[in-house]
Amino acid sequence: MVTKITTVKCPFCGSEKVSKNGHNKTGKQVYNCNNSKCSHRNFVEEYTYKAYNPEVRKQVLKMAVDCTGTRATGRILGISKDTVTAILKKTKTGHGR
Ligand SMILES: [Zn+2]
Repeated sequence: MVTKITTVKCPFCGSEKVSKNGHNKTGKQVYNCNNSKCSHRNFVEEYTYKAYNPEVRKQVLKMAVDCTGTRATGRILGISKDTVTAILKKTKTGHGR
């Protein structure tokens, strides 16, 4: 028997530390976010396919400007450093030198 592992990330903080929490009225899978720093306790599966919270993205970019390393940024925001890298890659900040 194969256990299918799907990586579900919290759409609000990008954390992968989520746990299933039953289904909502419309039958969608509901997850709990286990990141204590996250502003949202739970979310519906549908959201996981959407872009990360713009608020988180803003934070990441701000910290990049402050020369905070990707790992440190991820730790502070409660997201993986890969997520940080992905956000930075997607949003190219022009270095005005
Ligand atoms: Zn979260």
